[in-house]
Amino acid sequence: MHNILVVGAGFTGSVIARELADSGHYNVLVVDERNHIAGNCHTKRDNETNVMEHVYGPHIFNTSNEKVWQYVNKFDEFMPYTNRVKAVTRAGVFSLPINLLTINQLFGKTFNPREAEEFVAQLGDKTIAEPRNFEEQALKMLGKKIYETFFLDYTIKQWGCHPRELSADVLKRLPIRFNYDDNYYHTHYQGIPRNGYTNLISNILDHPAITVELNTRYEREWNGKYHYIFYTGAIDAYFSYAEGRLGYRTIYFERFIYNGSDYQGNPVINYCDKNVPYTRVHEHKHFTPWEDHDKSLFFKEFSKETEGDDIPFYPKSLPADKAILARYKQRAQSEFNTTFVGRLATYRYLDMHHVIDEALTVAESFINYKNPLASFTRFPVNNG
Ligand code: FAD
Ligand code: UDP
Repeated sequence: MHNILVVGAGFTGSVIARELADSGHYNVLVVDERNHIAGNCHTKRDNETNVMEHVYGPHIFNTSNEKVWQYVNKFDEFMPYTNRVKAVTRAGVFSLPINLLTINQLFGKTFNPREAEEFVAQLGDKTIAEPRNFEEQALKMLGKKIYETFFLDYTIKQWGCHPRELSADVLKRLPIRFNYDDNYYHTHYQGIPRNGYTNLISNILDHPAITVELNTRYEREWNGKYHYIFYTGAIDAYFSYAEGRLGYRTIYFERFIYNGSDYQGNPVINYCDKNVPYTRVHEHKHFTPWEDHDKSLFFKEFSKETEGDDIPFYPKSLPADKAILARYKQRAQSEFNTTFVGRLATYRYLDMHHVIDEALTVAESFINYKNPLASFTRFPVNNG
């Protein structure tokens, strides 16, 4: 048996640990610097309301990947849940993502799908051939009025920079629909684990060949103590920020208890105007619609630049960050028996289903590799 160290008990680390343990060839120690498993997906019952609290912000599981969906369903029952978001703007309250209702209400029309599609196409800025950034993508695809009503101020609040500085990919995350479907996601499967994500990840880690140590911060000096290491923490922190800090936005919450059964009538409401300092309000009981609670818990979400010990959440990926990342990746090539995987170690904006899929792929190729301990790749999924 070889001894493997996995740094980080989020989805990435936990899935890799489980797959390696299941292979029967490895003992796995999983360490996490926090006092709980599940990373940013951590959920717990709030003492006062008994509502399932998404401690680092709400997580809605959605995927079109059959393998990932089957995998997570082995570890808890997924309850039906469809995310429907509302947006408060200067022009009123609308439904997001942009759909036929949003378009008809914003422009005071009664378009059918074909008419709405033609109308929006004609709003788009035709002088933009290849959008180079978020703003150009929005102006080309949606036109000025939709962009300014829903995206301009919200994006400045969320990212702390102008949408012209951001990649067009950030906007591409959101679908636009010319029907009345207001499902926030366009993926095949969507749901919330009945007992929360921490319970699900605890089930993944529940294996005789896996040991978990919390409140344990991995230091690079430990290198060499294990046959192999999978590191899922931040890559710049791993190298003590020697090449500089990668740009991240962090978020923080103001947390409130509401002494009534329904504070805002919806799980998530976005605030698209710059005069409201927060980006969105989450009311947690609505993420478990199968439960009843007399009281309610809600979070106002704020965004700011990451500094000091703030938790890095959203990679900004500005050109300067890409240059810094390239230098860290160069350094990583000469690390002893260590693979960098997961959203922080590869500095990417990844959903849960992405990291689970990548973790399954990495574990499978490690298990099938001829001599993994000697020559497995540093960045098996993302070599870019
Ligand atoms: P993480 O969950 O960040 O886990 C990394 C772990 O490593 C952490 O527990 C950390 O404590 C630990 N660690 C780091 N460095 C060290 C060290 N040196 N020593 C020991 N431990 C260390 N995805 C969705 O699919 N749907 C959603 O609705 C959704 N909502 C989100 C909302 C927010 C606010 C955020 C920030 C993300 C959201 N995501 C969502 C993305 C989701 O959180 C990630 O895809 C997922 O958590 C990534 O898992 P991971 O294991 O790679 O990273
Ligand atoms: N966005 C916006 N207004 C909204 C919702 C989203 O401008 O009301 C932009 C914003 O830049 C955000 C991006 O679209 O970062 C992607 O939105 P998503 O809801 O996927 O963000 P996440 O849930 O990852 O924070």
